[in-house]
Amino acid sequence: MKKALVLGAGGFIGNHLVNRLKSEGFWVRGIDLKYPEFQKTQADHFVIGDLRDLAVVIEGMKSPDSTPFEEVYQLAADMGGAGYIFTGDNDANVMHNSATINLNIADQAVKYKIGKIFYSSSACMYPAYNQEDPDNPECSESSAYPAAPDSEYGWEKLFSERLFLAYERNYGLQVRIARFHNIFGELSTYTGGKEKAPAAICRKVATAKSGESVEVWGDGLQTRSFLYIDECLTGVRKLMDSDFSGPVNIGSDEMVSINQLVEMVAKISGKTISLHHIPGPIGVRGRNSDNKLIYEKLSWRPSEPLTAGITKLYHWVNEQVHQTVHPA
Ligand code: NAD
Repeated sequence: MKKALVLGAGGFIGNHLVNRLKSEGFWVRGIDLKYPEFQKTQADHFVIGDLRDLAVVIEGMKSPDSTPFEEVYQLAADMGGAGYIFTGDNDANVMHNSATINLNIADQAVKYKIGKIFYSSSACMYPAYNQEDPDNPECSESSAYPAAPDSEYGWEKLFSERLFLAYERNYGLQVRIARFHNIFGELSTYTGGKEKAPAAICRKVATAKSGESVEVWGDGLQTRSFLYIDECLTGVRKLMDSDFSGPVNIGSDEMVSINQLVEMVAKISGKTISLHHIPGPIGVRGRNSDNKLIYEKLSWRPSEPLTAGITKLYHWVNEQVHQTVHPA
């Protein structure tokens, strides 16, 4: 039985990835500061631990049968939505915490001779100067340099991509790097300050009455694409099974404005909702996944329409919100 180690297994993507790996027959260990928020983990062994602490990483890499983990997935990061990473208030923590985690993990992965390591980078590492036109952002993998991310979160991701690639060059570590573009789905944070746009919008619409308005940060004309979690994990697993190290985009290329996303959610809810634009952190003006490289290397790219995933997310958030407001 193949063994996988999932770092950040208590988080949104990590928890879903543990479920996927279990369904594929892996023995799985998860490590995180916390258990998954919305369901019991399916990991065979789950360690509550801080990956900034080298001793936790050293202990975590020891596999149950003393042979190296075949696969390690590094998803742990100090992160959140725009309200967390674009205000500037969390910059030092974001950089220090995530860089420390990655420095510890890259080094121990070599010492433990693990088979392959997956690293989750982000589209936030792309240069801001290529994302000023909301209708025409440039996010091909080769456009990464000269580097100019618009957040410290993006700079740390770029640093850690380079860190893992340096370990590949100098120590033969097998790495696979994906740049995720706005992954969303059920079992994700939808309130509290770390939530991302799709879950936040679903919460706002779910708690609004028909005829009311919801608040939207900025003018809502900023564009993004959003990828449903199941397709993201399919891309991750295909990349892991391939010979291509990346970095490669894993994202949808169905670009929408934030206003259009709110209108989509309102339609799904069946409510009449108007938009109230307020000042807020918005990030770059436009961003979309460029999927030429992933298609070339993996003969696969995401294809599910946005509305299909958003419908599933809306129903889940709606259930959560109403359970919380009116406990049985
Ligand atoms: P998440 O915040 O839900 O998960 C990250 C997990 O890392 C959390 O459970 C957190 O507790 C854990 N963690 C943080 N610091 C830790 C520490 N010191 N020790 C142990 N665990 C620690 O985020 P997510 O959406 O699941 O994202 C997973 C990865 O994908 C992250 O690296 C993120 O930067 C990257 N990513 C996500 C998106 C997205 O849209 N969700 C987009 C781009 C990149």
